[in-house]
Amino acid sequence: MQGRHALITGGGTGIGAAAARHLHAAGAKITVTGRRLDPLAAIAGEVGGTAVQCDVTDPDQVARAFAEARAANGPIEMLIVNAGIAESAPFAKMSRDSWNRIIATNLTAAFECAQAAIGDLLASENGRLVFVASVASLRGVPYAAHYAASKHGLLGLTRSLAAEYAKTNLTVNAVCPGYVDTPMTDQSVARVSEITGRSEDQARGAITSMNASGRLVDPEAIGNMIAMLCLPLSRDINGAALTIDGGTSA
Ligand code: NDP
Repeated sequence: MQGRHALITGGGTGIGAAAARHLHAAGAKITVTGRRLDPLAAIAGEVGGTAVQCDVTDPDQVARAFAEARAANGPIEMLIVNAGIAESAPFAKMSRDSWNRIIATNLTAAFECAQAAIGDLLASENGRLVFVASVASLRGVPYAAHYAASKHGLLGLTRSLAAEYAKTNLTVNAVCPGYVDTPMTDQSVARVSEITGRSEDQARGAITSMNASGRLVDPEAIGNMIAMLCLPLSRDINGAALTIDGGTSA
């Protein structure tokens, strides 16, 4: 993928930063986007890429950021839709604000970003669109109905675009990790600890034990999988939902 441009939303931390490293190692030019400039600047510096500040829930910011990315690195031939948030609440107490926040960030923004790049992706000889979904795309999650609904929706978007563009040079796939060792999981640990009164170690243990392997997934493994999906040789992998959770499949 020498010299081809990959844009990664939420590329400053966790899975997005790992994807940036692996795509860079495979030769891609990198743009990372997110709301906080500091982590973006750090990873952009590491991979010789471009950092663009952008809140993906704001369509004007998405349009401006993608234009800036194109001006710096050329057409977007690989788009990694990774930006996401998680919250938790018992369903009866789930607020509409929380529901709207999760759907706006994890699902509606994915539509927005994919649409903002679709012209470039279809014009490429090897267009690649990868959505960072979740095992919550494939099964229900107690206390996270909004998150699971958003991630099920994301997989529906993945499969629909894969079907719609099956006869083109664009592939559309989803990676579906279990719990990954990233800041998002750190936040989940803190939430569980606060709600249940368990220590942070106990809360981390409870979360980790939900992965079949009994360990958190290394974000680098997901970054590597994303880069693999972006290789020209992966052109026949389309519409896949790749489960990566240390052993469990849905
Ligand atoms: P992080 O919290 O490290 O990454 C999330 C990234 O999304 C951050 O860089 C954040 O940057 C960005 N982001 C969040 N909201 C917005 C927004 N409105 N606009 C732009 N960027 C935004 O955690 P992960 O790396 O774990 O998460 C990446 C993806 O992986 C998410 O979609 C998540 O749902 C998914 N996932 C994570 C799992 C896990 O166990 N950690 C398991 C399965 C899936 P900033 O705050 O600067 O905007």
